[in-house]
Amino acid sequence: MNDCIFCKIIKREIPADFIYENDKIVAFLDIHPSNPGHALVVPKAHFTDLVETPDDVLADIMSRTKKIAPAIMNAVGADGFNSIFNTKPAAGQVIFHTHMHIIPRFKNDGLKHWPEKDLSKEEMRKIKDQIRAELR
Ligand code: AMP
Ligand code: ZN
Repeated sequence: MNDCIFCKIIKREIPADFIYENDKIVAFLDIHPSNPGHALVVPKAHFTDLVETPDDVLADIMSRTKKIAPAIMNAVGADGFNSIFNTKPAAGQVIFHTHMHIIPRFKNDGLKHWPEKDLSKEEMRKIKDQIRAELR
């Protein structure tokens, strides 16, 4: 992918603050961090998003995250972290090369969790049935 910014970072054509690399994935600091230590775990091969990414690559992203996230927490003195894939523009994805955010969290850091919506029992039941039908 010639015009993919993350492919260029992986090929060292654009600079980034790398924190980890193995044969399948890299991790580097997010250029616009939500908190100090905010990092992205990125497969070296180009896939558009999570759904397009092969299982073995996703497994590597997750297993490395178990090592990388605690290291970030220790390094910045965080109390926890969020790990997030944004998938499709409606969900806020702006870079179409699979990446997982690791966002260190601090007690009372002011970042907000998802707002809640009230759905009726009937709406919940209908949605559940529709999803189960899709998964059949
Ligand atoms: P997303 O909204 O999930 O597609 O997130 C893309 C993330 O990539 C954003 O948090 C950006 O701040 C980050 N980003 C964009 N360009 C760069 C770059 N050159 N180096 C590091 N992070 C970047
Ligand atoms: Zn790419």
